[in-house]
Amino acid sequence: MNRDYIFHSYTKTMCSHCQRQVDGKIVYDSKGVYIIKNCLEHGEHKELLEEDVEYHLLKAKYDKPGTKSTIQTQIKDDCPYDCGLCPSHDQHTCIGLIEITMRCNLNCPVCYARAGKGKDLDMLTIEKMMDFYMEAEGGSAEILQISGGEPTLHPNILEIIKMAKGKGFKYVMLNTNGIRIAKDEDFVKALSSFKGGFEVYLQFDGLKEEIYYKLRNQSMLEIKKKAIQNLSIHDVPTTLVCTVTQGVNDNYLGEIITYGMDEKCIRGVNLQPVAFFGRTHELETKKRITLSGILTRIEGQTAGLLKKLDFIPLPCNVERVAITYLFKDSSGGFVPITRGKDMSDYKHAVNNTFMFTVEDTLKNLKDENIDFGICDCCDLVSDIKRVIPKGFIFKSKKEKMKFVDENTFRISVSSFIDQYNFDMKSIQKDCVHVITPDLKRIPFSAYNMIHRKKYDYIYF
Ligand code: SF4
Ligand code: SF4
Repeated sequence: MNRDYIFHSYTKTMCSHCQRQVDGKIVYDSKGVYIIKNCLEHGEHKELLEEDVEYHLLKAKYDKPGTKSTIQTQIKDDCPYDCGLCPSHDQHTCIGLIEITMRCNLNCPVCYARAGKGKDLDMLTIEKMMDFYMEAEGGSAEILQISGGEPTLHPNILEIIKMAKGKGFKYVMLNTNGIRIAKDEDFVKALSSFKGGFEVYLQFDGLKEEIYYKLRNQSMLEIKKKAIQNLSIHDVPTTLVCTVTQGVNDNYLGEIITYGMDEKCIRGVNLQPVAFFGRTHELETKKRITLSGILTRIEGQTAGLLKKLDFIPLPCNVERVAITYLFKDSSGGFVPITRGKDMSDYKHAVNNTFMFTVEDTLKNLKDENIDFGICDCCDLVSDIKRVIPKGFIFKSKKEKMKFVDENTFRISVSSFIDQYNFDMKSIQKDCVHVITPDLKRIPFSAYNMIHRKKYDYIYF
């Protein structure tokens, strides 16, 4: 009798029960892609990896070499216990995240950080973490996310953002639940002074109050709307960040995206399927939603505006991030720039970074002497040409950023790795790294799964 699956590839994974490293098979059938693993003590587990087989198989086409970075630790206990970065890690830091406080004015049942009553980091420690990140990335670190806990509760939050901007990070993001932004307009006004390489990364789970009762333990809808109103008044670029949970808000993704497109300050939406660590560990893991499952839902909920294949697996981590850009066309509506293109032809032009900006892509294509005037067979380039103003590449950085900010809308899906869906390739290509107070870079998923508790003595 035949097996009821196709054996796709071998991986190292971990026991879903005890986190011991074990061998795993990535397999698929007509319903999805799974990891099958066997632990000598806890037996066999079969865990969902992706809901859409076709999309999963497509990822390899977009893969490209990772970018080398410096190392901070040596190989001793094997992955993911040796973070990091250790010599086995295969991707540099696209996003460095610093948690400046573990205090929070919410107590979300889906909080990875278990934040609530905690401590603030002092300014000296925060500065050391920023300097370490910059140095570890050879002086050109890209994105710094200021996170927590709720970072706007830190008494020196504006000083911290100012410090980050002064240190030359290309992009600074403030991760927030929006409560202070809704209640303190002077604070929003102060944030607007950081515009140009700064944005607010606003927790936003949907437009139904019951979603917030389930995910945030309280009513939040009016607070979110007021926060967005204040950000729009002061024109602070904002990304909506949505934790997608089955049976709670997975049927409302189209609504969230179209709402975002209509709001002046919102430049994009990031959708994150809930991962099973931190407080979320209590939830039912059988209710997992995957990256490709989110894309299927988006296609079904946006009436033809977005299709699954408009999203490209981001070359820096094809397994875990998918992205699309929409451009404003002449009628003021948004059109996905990736529609109908085989974007894998352009992966060499997309940097190993989460930013994937039009400006960078154009620059890379130009560096390879692709002549924009002749290359009309190259649909991507001609499409970009069609939507960008004449002489775009000669404009100042500030002008380019303003154009991209105001005329593009970014939709991305980032899925994290927990002990159930763990596979070695995904974790070693993880490019979102937590910068720790003891100056390590730990891939975000590995930090939440294994390492976070080691820092409890600093944060709680
Ligand atoms: S996740 Fe990366 S840094 Fe951590 S142990 Fe594995 S390879 Fe090393
Ligand atoms: S998820 Fe964010 S807002 Fe909620 S408790 Fe955690 S840090 Fe606070």
